[in-house]
Amino acid sequence: MIKFDPQNTAECLDILSQMNQYVDGELAAEICHDLEQHLSECQDCQVVFDTLAKTVKLYRSLHDTPLEMPTGVEERLLKRLNLN
Ligand SMILES: [Zn+2]
Repeated sequence: MIKFDPQNTAECLDILSQMNQYVDGELAAEICHDLEQHLSECQDCQVVFDTLAKTVKLYRSLHDTPLEMPTGVEERLLKRLNLN
């Protein structure tokens, strides 16, 4: 079981808000580094990231178009974190 403290949660929300751009390759290298650093230390965000990365990969393999996040994915991920 992972236990969140409020500070950690705030950082996670920050990371999550940038994750779409990260997966899209739109973040500056420096911010990518911060995000990767957080992912290496935060199992919850790793799970979210894995899910998102797989979703994006699948989506791109099906549609050769610029990505729009499937509706509700981000919302579900945030909800999941809030439950912890
Ligand atoms: Zn996190």
